[in-house]
Amino acid sequence: MKNYIYLMVFVLFACQAKQKETATMVSVSILPQQYFVEQLAGDLLHINVLVPPGSSPHNYSVLPSQMKDLARSKVWLQIGLLTFEEAWKDKFAEINKDLSIVNCSEGIVPIAGIECEEEGHDHEHEHAEAFDPHSWLAPADVKIIAQNTLKALKTNFPEHATTFESNYSRFITKIDSLSAHIDRKLSPLANRHILIFHPALGYYARQFKLEQTPLELDGKEPSPKHMKTIVDLARSQNIKVIFIQKEFDAENALQLSREIGGEVMTIDPLDYDWEKQMLDITEKIATQK
Ligand SMILES: [Zn+2]
Repeated sequence: MKNYIYLMVFVLFACQAKQKETATMVSVSILPQQYFVEQLAGDLLHINVLVPPGSSPHNYSVLPSQMKDLARSKVWLQIGLLTFEEAWKDKFAEINKDLSIVNCSEGIVPIAGIECEEEGHDHEHEHAEAFDPHSWLAPADVKIIAQNTLKALKTNFPEHATTFESNYSRFITKIDSLSAHIDRKLSPLANRHILIFHPALGYYARQFKLEQTPLELDGKEPSPKHMKTIVDLARSQNIKVIFIQKEFDAENALQLSREIGGEVMTIDPLDYDWEKQMLDITEKIATQK
């Protein structure tokens, strides 16, 4: 009998824990968004990240375990511009009828997707996105993402509204000083051109007045013709650094670096610690005087 009571108590606690988790579950698309939500909510909420580290957020397939947490989420905070989000939206709405879906990039002026530069092409590009989705990599745009996140959290968890509000103010102040720091770091640079394998720094480049040239073309390996164009550009502009994201194959970038006598530097735009990553990217760009 005694054991039975222990068991009952245990089951009761376990159920309560589960219920509590369900009541505070939030899904986000990518890891930096977990950082954003935690800036506003601390540990008040449970966060389900849909695209795990090391996977591409452009065309990701959601795992069954994540689906389970998605089904228990009150809200899904999308970046709003990623291909996988559009592809899974209906499925998510079907498995969770009460799910509120929020586009966190609403209000950001989107950058058009990169067009195919090669001539004689007029087929449909399945992989090309209409808009550049990497809006979370510019502090100015993250202020808008934070604002949309705040609004969604207040709507879905009104009992914590005051906490969210005061944390949000603190986060905005932090973002402003980050922007100022990056400005100071980059404004003396004469060379404002960045070469990058996958074009993740479009919004960053827009905010800090840099010019980004991708090696990738339409989400594919560069053609020999495109590589030659880039080698010529790098030589004429004296560009010495090629950026690559950690999940990509570095072979093309290494080949290019050998041709221009430059260096390959790895960045991680999907890093959880967004602020640290923004500083790291900035330091690396600043080495290219
Ligand atoms: Zn990307």
